[in-house]
Amino acid sequence: MALLDDAYGRPSLAPRLPPVDELVYTVLSQNTADVNTDRTFAELRRRFPTWSAVRDAPVADVEAAISLGGLAATKAPRIKAILAALSAPGEAGEPDLGALDGLDDEAAAAWLEALPGVGPKTAACVLLFSLGRPVMPVDTHVHRLARRLGLIDQGVTAEQAHRLLTALAGPEPAQIYAAHVDLVRHGRRVCHARRPRCGECVLAGLCPSAGTG
Ligand code: SF4
Repeated sequence: MALLDDAYGRPSLAPRLPPVDELVYTVLSQNTADVNTDRTFAELRRRFPTWSAVRDAPVADVEAAISLGGLAATKAPRIKAILAALSAPGEAGEPDLGALDGLDDEAAAAWLEALPGVGPKTAACVLLFSLGRPVMPVDTHVHRLARRLGLIDQGVTAEQAHRLLTALAGPEPAQIYAAHVDLVRHGRRVCHARRPRCGECVLAGLCPSAGTG
């Protein structure tokens, strides 16, 4: 990824949000543009100062609070169910992700993926962005570029790619973060899903898909 670091600047890993916040933020980001996710998350936090308040609120109130983003009717019950799962049974305290502390990266990912509506990408975002663990989130850009660049086979799904690309980019979290951000930036700016701009791509000399888009 050195060529992309040179083109865009080396991204550096710094914890973005506390773990529960990151998890809720990532659920809100599913099928939603970044700018809308930021606004929706801010509005949810404005209306509910604590995560226990979201957990205990009527689902219609949570849905109204996140209506700026997409799929509010799906995400509101999902977020409430996640927050309930992160709370000790019968306790009124705050939901937390302390259960991850004693788990290795693979077990922590599996624990998160057992939560309602949480897949490998959402789990990886929490583990890398918030906890600084060496796990690669694979979104649509990372998946598309990894296939075009021949880092993974064409038939490998985004879900399957998490483990493969983590192994390729690792073992340092900072390295994995830089690779993730580089691929997302390049996918947004140059290697578009339709009509990739191979003529101005710094990776064209290495890319088996150059000129075929
Ligand atoms: S050469 Fe084309 S297909 Fe390959 S990474 Fe660059 S833009 Fe994408």
